[in-house]
Amino acid sequence: MPGRILQADVDEVKSRTNIADIIGERVALKSAGVGALKGLCPFHDERSPSFNVRPQAGFYHCFGCGESGDVYSFLRNLDHLSFTEAVERLAARIGYTLHYEDGAAAPETSGRTRLYAANAAAAEYFRGQLASGEADIARRFLGERGFDAGAAAHFGVGYAPKGWSNMLDALTKQGFSADELTSAGLVSQGQRGVYDRFRGRVVWPIRDVTGQVLGFGARRLFEDDNGPKYLNTPETTLYKKAQVLYGLDLAKREIARGHRVVVVEGYTDVMACHLAGVTTAIATCGTAFGADHITVLRRVMGDDSAGGEVVFTFDPDAAGQKAALRAFADAKRFNAQTYVAVGPEGLDPCDLRLARGDGAVRALIDTKAPMVEFVLDQRIQGFDLATVEGRVGALRAAAPVVAELRDPLLQPEYVRVLARRLGMDTEDVRREVERAARGERPSGRTADPAPPQGTDAAPAVRVTLASLPRTADVALERDSLMGVLQFGHRIEPGLRARAMSLPFVHPALEAVRVSVAAAPDFDRLGWAAEAVGTVREPFRSLAAELLTSDFPAQTDDVAVASASALCRRLILRTLDRDKAELLGAIQRVPADSEEGRGIRLRLRELDLQRQTIADA
Ligand code: ZN
Repeated sequence: MPGRILQADVDEVKSRTNIADIIGERVALKSAGVGALKGLCPFHDERSPSFNVRPQAGFYHCFGCGESGDVYSFLRNLDHLSFTEAVERLAARIGYTLHYEDGAAAPETSGRTRLYAANAAAAEYFRGQLASGEADIARRFLGERGFDAGAAAHFGVGYAPKGWSNMLDALTKQGFSADELTSAGLVSQGQRGVYDRFRGRVVWPIRDVTGQVLGFGARRLFEDDNGPKYLNTPETTLYKKAQVLYGLDLAKREIARGHRVVVVEGYTDVMACHLAGVTTAIATCGTAFGADHITVLRRVMGDDSAGGEVVFTFDPDAAGQKAALRAFADAKRFNAQTYVAVGPEGLDPCDLRLARGDGAVRALIDTKAPMVEFVLDQRIQGFDLATVEGRVGALRAAAPVVAELRDPLLQPEYVRVLARRLGMDTEDVRREVERAARGERPSGRTADPAPPQGTDAAPAVRVTLASLPRTADVALERDSLMGVLQFGHRIEPGLRARAMSLPFVHPALEAVRVSVAAAPDFDRLGWAAEAVGTVREPFRSLAAELLTSDFPAQTDDVAVASASALCRRLILRTLDRDKAELLGAIQRVPADSEEGRGIRLRLRELDLQRQTIADA
C-alpha cells in the first residue's frame, strides 16, 4: 500500500479541476445567475433543481437534502470512491503525477480504480481480438447486420475468443490478479480456479455516462454454445444492471442538448440508430426499463425535461405491449413527454436500417405517437366499436388511463382524443373519466368487462374507409391522402411537403398523414408502401386502403392535377382557419393599436398567400 498522497498534490489536483466539469458529466447543469450552476440533485429524488454548483468556489450544495462538499466529496459520495481513489481518478484525468508520503510515485492500487482498469483492459483486449482469424464469425455477424469495421470501432465492439483462459492470461500478464478479475465480473470461479466468463461471443463494452467501461454484454455466436443467447457482466460494485444504459456515453451530449432520448431494445438497435443519425438512442442491458434508469436519464436531461421527449421503440408483439404498459406506469416519473414508435411490420431499428436504409430509421422516430395514445389503443383493441356494448366496454377499459393523467391541460385533451377514438360524446367520456379518477366502479353493471389483452384478444376493430364520418373535412383529408399516396412522386415537392405538414382533424387520417409526411424519399420506388408500413396501429390497414383504393381520374395526368388541387385545398383550409382566428382577434383590440395593425398586416399576408395558391 502506498502512503498518503502529499497534501500539496491533493490541493494542486483540486485547483486544476473544474468541479462543474466533473459534476456536469453526471448531472445536466445550467446557469443559475452569476457564477452559479444548478441541476437535479443526484443524491435525492427531485423534479425541480435545488442542487447548486459554484465552480469558482469549487463547491456544491443541495438546498433540498443538504448534501454539500468539494469535488472529492462529490466523487466519494456519488461513486463511492475512497478519498485516495478520488484524488487518483482526477489526477489521472489531467495527467498529473501524484507523490506519496513514502516518497515514491506509487501505482494506483485501490479497489474500484483497479476494477475500472481491469474492465478497460478487457475492452481493449476484446477489441483487438475482433481482427483475429477466429473472429471471422463475429465479423460476419456484425456485417450481416450492417456494421462494418468502422462501426465496430466506433462502439468498441470486440470478440471474446473460445477457450477458457485467453483473456485471463492476457490480463494476468498486465498485472491483474484473479481476485480483481473476479470482482470485475470478467472471470467465473470454477473448481480448479477461475476461467473466462465470455467465450466465443461478440462483446459490447457497457460504459457509464463518463465513458468508463463498467462491464459487458455478449452474444452467443456458435451453434454448440449451450450458454444463454445474451450474457452480461454479473452485478459488481461497478455494474448495476438496473442503472446501466448502453450507449449513454455516446448519446449523453445530444440528449442533454435536445432534451430527447430514444429507448431501443438491444445493442445492435443502438448502433443502427446512431449510424442512421438518431444519436440519442440508448438501451437497457438485459433487463426491463425501470425506475432507476429514469433517475439516471433525468439527471442527464436536466429539469428542462419538462419540454423533453422520451421515445420508446417496442416490438408490437404481446411482450412489447406489456413492456410499453410497464414503461407507462413508470413514465409518470418523467417530467418529459413519453412516446412510442412502432416499426413497420414490427421491424426493430437494426432490421429496419438493413431493409430500408438510414432514412427509414429516422422516419420511424418521427412517426412516434404519445404513449398515452398507444396505451389507449391497447386498451380499446378487441372491443367492437360498431356496437354500443363495445363502445361502452372500451370506454370503461380506457377511462382509467386518462384519469391517471395528472396534467390539468392534458386530461381534457385526452378526453377529446378518447371520445374521437370511440366515436362517443365528449361529455359522456368526461363523466366516465371523472368516475374513474374518483376510483368508483362504473355504474350499471356489477362487473367490468375485462379488457382483452395479449395475443388471445379478439382482432382489433379496424378503422376502414367506409367507416369514416361523412364530413367535408374528413373527405378532403381522405382524398388528399389517397392522392398523395398514389401520385405523390409527381406532385410538386414544395406543395406536397407543405400540405402534408398540416395537422388533420380525423385521428386515423392524422396517423396516416404523419407517416406520409415522414417518408424519406418520394422518388424511390415503393416509397408509399413503405410509408404505409410505418403507420401506427391500428391504422395501418386504413393507410393500405388509401393507397390501393381507386382515385377517381381518367388519366394519370388528371389524377396528378387533382391530387395537387387537393393539396392546395388543404393549405387553403388552414389559411382560412388562421384568417377566421385573426378576424376574431381583431374585434377584441382597438383598431389603431399596435396589435391591431399587426393583425391587419398578417391578414393581408394571408390573403396574398391565399391568392397565390388559389391561382396556381
Ligand atoms: Zn439533494
